[in-house]
Amino acid sequence: MKPLLRAGAATAGTFVVIGGATLATTSVVMTVVRAGINHRKKKLSIVCKPCSGQKLVVCSVCKGDNLIDWSPFEDPAGRTPVLCPMCGGYGEQKCLNCNGEGTVIPLQLPAWASDAQ
Ligand SMILES: [Zn+2]
Ligand SMILES: [Zn+2]
Repeated sequence: MKPLLRAGAATAGTFVVIGGATLATTSVVMTVVRAGINHRKKKLSIVCKPCSGQKLVVCSVCKGDNLIDWSPFEDPAGRTPVLCPMCGGYGEQKCLNCNGEGTVIPLQLPAWASDAQ
């Protein structure tokens, strides 16, 4: 019985090793695939036009003034300058076109980006 048991343990050990190797290989493959996708994305992406790649645009609410005139009664005399609620007084907001990435992947690829043409 003893040699048999030992053989069984050895087989189990081999399976564990193989399993571990498969897991490691899978994660390596996944990393390579992910890197490939990122590289492809980088290659296809172009500089965002609305923000010129700056990732930020002038706040649409305060127009970069950091403050807005706010009145609860629409009374010009009672207007008080308050910190812009949109940008929090920064005067800039995250570019919505590129979502703050600075680059976008165009839906319609320009001719120079297409290998087929
Ligand atoms: Zn603002
Ligand atoms: Zn942008």
